[in-house]
Amino acid sequence: MNGFNAIAIDGPSGAGKSSMAKRLAGAFSFLYVDTGAIYRTLGLACCRAGIDRRDVSAVMALLETLDISIRYNEQGVQCMILNGEDVSREIRLPEISLCASDVSALPEVRRFLLEMQRKFARENNVVMDGRDIGTVVLPDAELKIFLTASPEARAARRLAELREKGSNVDYEEVLRDISYRDEQDINRAAAPLRKAADAVELDSSELSEEETFALLCEIVITRLALSPEESV
Ligand code: C5P
Repeated sequence: MNGFNAIAIDGPSGAGKSSMAKRLAGAFSFLYVDTGAIYRTLGLACCRAGIDRRDVSAVMALLETLDISIRYNEQGVQCMILNGEDVSREIRLPEISLCASDVSALPEVRRFLLEMQRKFARENNVVMDGRDIGTVVLPDAELKIFLTASPEARAARRLAELREKGSNVDYEEVLRDISYRDEQDINRAAAPLRKAADAVELDSSELSEEETFALLCEIVITRLALSPEESV
């Protein structure tokens, strides 16, 4: 509509949204925007400030003093900047995931961060991933994908990733974290995790990463009439 195409990818934690979104963005020369990283950055700021991240007045008072921005480095990788500091690595810590999930349940927080997300789609071809991109952030996105997988499949993948990084967490703990975040994301009143009515749903529980990516590429090619490596 504004001359740019938007691909919205929503789904629960650990469904592979970010790796798929990143690869699609690379293949079709779109900008990848990871919106979870924005909530993670605020979650980190709350953690550092030691405030109750479910206390809406405290979180909003803090948010108004923060300078949160997204920068893309020379490799095109999204970096999160909090008051001038690159916090891209720190926001990936498992305890920050839970903080992010808590602050993201606050409607005032979501409203505050909406414009920051929409601006990217007004100015670029974007692949944006999150929970409410197709339903709230970009309801007019040209293509909406709802990527899911069973909690067990997601926990097993997350465990493998964490183990590779040297962590010795166990499967039950990872499954518990995933279930906690699902529960919050699905049941919160503000922008709950939902499949948009016009989204294409893909369940990757039984698919490899390559199979999932190939299917998604096919969907993009068919629905947006694009070819890989082609900038529109
Ligand atoms: O996607 P990721 O796990 O990095 O997101 C961190 C948290 O931010 C999620 O648990 C989810 O609660 C929240 N989130 C959200 N809306 C988005 C993206 C993420 O509520 N668009």
